[in-house]
Amino acid sequence: MTEPTPATETRKPVVLVVDDDQLLRVMLQDALKAAGFDVIVAADGVSALHAVAASSPDLVLLDLVMPGKDGCETCRDIRALPGFAYTPVLMLTSLDNADSIHRAFEAGATDFIAKPVNLELLAHRVRYVLRASQNVNTLAESRARLEMLKVAVDSLPIGITFSDVDGVIVYSNPAEARMHGYEVDELVGKEARQFSTTNRSRHLAVDQLKEIGVWRRESVNVRRDGEEFPALLTSIPVRDCEANYLGIITTCEDISERKVAEEKIRQLAYYDTLTGLPNRGMFLERLHQTLSQAQRDRDKVNLIFLDLDNFKDVNDTQGHDVGDKLLQSVAERLSACMRDSDVLARLGGDEFVVVCPSLATQDSIAAVVQRILAIFSYPFEIEGRQIYTSASIGITVYPDDSLDASTLFRCADTAMYQAKNEGRAQFRFFSPELNQKIMQRVALESSLRQGLEKQEFFLHYQPLWDLRSSRMTGVEVLLRWQSSDYGLMQPSTFISLLEDSGLINSVGEWVLRTACLQMREWTDLEHRDLKMAVNISGKQMKHPRFLEMIISIIQETGIDPTNLELEFTESVIMENVENTVETFRKLKEMGIQLSIDDFGTGYSSLNYLKHFPVDRIKIDRSFVADVYHNQSDAAIIEAIVSMAQSLSLRVVAEGVENSDQLHSLTRLGCDEVQGFYLAMPMHADALADKLGQTHGRQIEKLAVTEWFDKRSV
Ligand code: C2E
Ligand code: MG
Ligand code: MG
Repeated sequence: MTEPTPATETRKPVVLVVDDDQLLRVMLQDALKAAGFDVIVAADGVSALHAVAASSPDLVLLDLVMPGKDGCETCRDIRALPGFAYTPVLMLTSLDNADSIHRAFEAGATDFIAKPVNLELLAHRVRYVLRASQNVNTLAESRARLEMLKVAVDSLPIGITFSDVDGVIVYSNPAEARMHGYEVDELVGKEARQFSTTNRSRHLAVDQLKEIGVWRRESVNVRRDGEEFPALLTSIPVRDCEANYLGIITTCEDISERKVAEEKIRQLAYYDTLTGLPNRGMFLERLHQTLSQAQRDRDKVNLIFLDLDNFKDVNDTQGHDVGDKLLQSVAERLSACMRDSDVLARLGGDEFVVVCPSLATQDSIAAVVQRILAIFSYPFEIEGRQIYTSASIGITVYPDDSLDASTLFRCADTAMYQAKNEGRAQFRFFSPELNQKIMQRVALESSLRQGLEKQEFFLHYQPLWDLRSSRMTGVEVLLRWQSSDYGLMQPSTFISLLEDSGLINSVGEWVLRTACLQMREWTDLEHRDLKMAVNISGKQMKHPRFLEMIISIIQETGIDPTNLELEFTESVIMENVENTVETFRKLKEMGIQLSIDDFGTGYSSLNYLKHFPVDRIKIDRSFVADVYHNQSDAAIIEAIVSMAQSLSLRVVAEGVENSDQLHSLTRLGCDEVQGFYLAMPMHADALADKLGQTHGRQIEKLAVTEWFDKRSV
């Protein structure tokens, strides 16, 4: 809307005088000029319209009765021009013409001046009308601005309220009303505080707000139906131009979505997604806090490390879903046995950690740990299966073991490994000697890895002899490690490390391939019946690709599978009977021979043997050592032999170191023997010379009864 330019001091107001009576025009013009106005004139309606358009007068003095376009018509046309809707138009008319006056107002006239015109009063009248019109213009302008502002505020997506000095809402925008479940009219008149639960209890005095200027805070607001939601409130005090306090404007934003997103981010950053427990980051933060507090209070803090003993096996054999559920169940049981002040976290994998503040004695902490161990005493029900697991636990104490968080962490980890190495399902406190041992183990493992890369492993072969013919029936493959750091290493020093680190799979595969290639060479040299016995670790058998690996090596090396024998220890076989029976069945189908190694050291139950499709059992060295003067060892061997015969299994005795042992074993009816007395484990080249030969030792041919008689003398 274009408004006429308001009169200023530098610019005189312009008055357009429109009259067909020339004399009156001149009179009016003179009088107005004398009163300080700029005057332009027009003699009829048409030229009046031109003059209005060209000069934008501030006021028009318009004769009502004119030839052609009369005053009413001219007035109507002026009003229709853009920007002249409110320009004051004073109509000149005779007082007696009431009907004309009525028409003039209808046409948009502002006021009228009666003819004959009182020239003295005219200037006052014109000035008055001009001033009044300016006020009207200003008012219209501010009303338009106000309207615009209201539209803007009403369409804002955040809530806005204005409450007066008493805290009563006098204005609310629709967003505010909607957010709280009301209509705008319903909010007006209510106390602002009643919509925020936090405000009710924590009312910030208005005086304080006046001082602060802006008060921004998060609050919990309540909707009409009682539902609470998080809100961000910003209040500012409002004052008039004389600085009188009028009330408070408060904006209110519903931050529910932001809170949800923040919580999600916090969860991701600080919590383990699988178990919902605090993660390593959160744990370290809490550990530092607890340690600082303990330092102030001169208190003790215990750090407990926990690692599941067979989690990898569960994962490998039952699948990751079951593994994940097991971890969740373990987390639940652990949480249930913690005190409120304890912090339980999952560090990753199957490792959990607990900080227990204020447990002064080793006994009280041991009690906590026993509680933890007890949660593993009954099985975890997962997907209809019962899964048994146990945990090894390491404990360290602040400030006894260390003052610093990361060292404590390492100590607890070390103690946990000690518990694992000493048989699992138990706990150990950290001690420096323990640490030393673990450090050595760590060094050995790294050496072992390097040894693999540097190809420091090689194989020895030890013959097995038939007791009746004295002929070599086969060889057992034994792994050796010529370490550049430790010298020649026997398997007892490194097999368990290979197993724990998972390296056993690749090493075992290498052993089998190398042995098969060697066997191929020997069987091609006419020794067609030679058996090659390879030791298989429990970890290897549990590997999902175990059978595949064996098949591919047989194909690759082109050996006859009936020449291959795999040795498994009793404990490996018994760990998962169902799986073992199935694996053994498949191996047998391929034609591979199977034997039970170190027989007698594990479950020692002769009964279970009939369930496994094995070909031979190898009696452990410990029974052989004293067989010639220990009656109970001899009796055990005798029983094993008789049972094996009934199952058509061959019996091998290991660790024969002298002729007495050899004689005893012969008499007890063993089929085969292996031992230093007959041949040491040796390189392939050395063994090649012995192939097809007899062991060359003399065996006394006495009956068993005779031998017993002789021994008891
Ligand atoms: P094992 O399978 O019972 O192997 C026989 C062990 O007895 C060998 O020890 C052998 O050197 C030793 N031995 C043989 N005759 C005598 C004797 O007359 N007296 C004494 N005192 N010992 C004798 P080694 O080579 O130290 O192997 C120890 C164990 O390490 C093996 O016991 C086997 O369980 C494991 N092992 C060896 N090589 C491998 C391998 O390639 N893979 C796996 N998984 N385990 C292996
Ligand atoms: Mg063996
Ligand atoms: Mg053995």
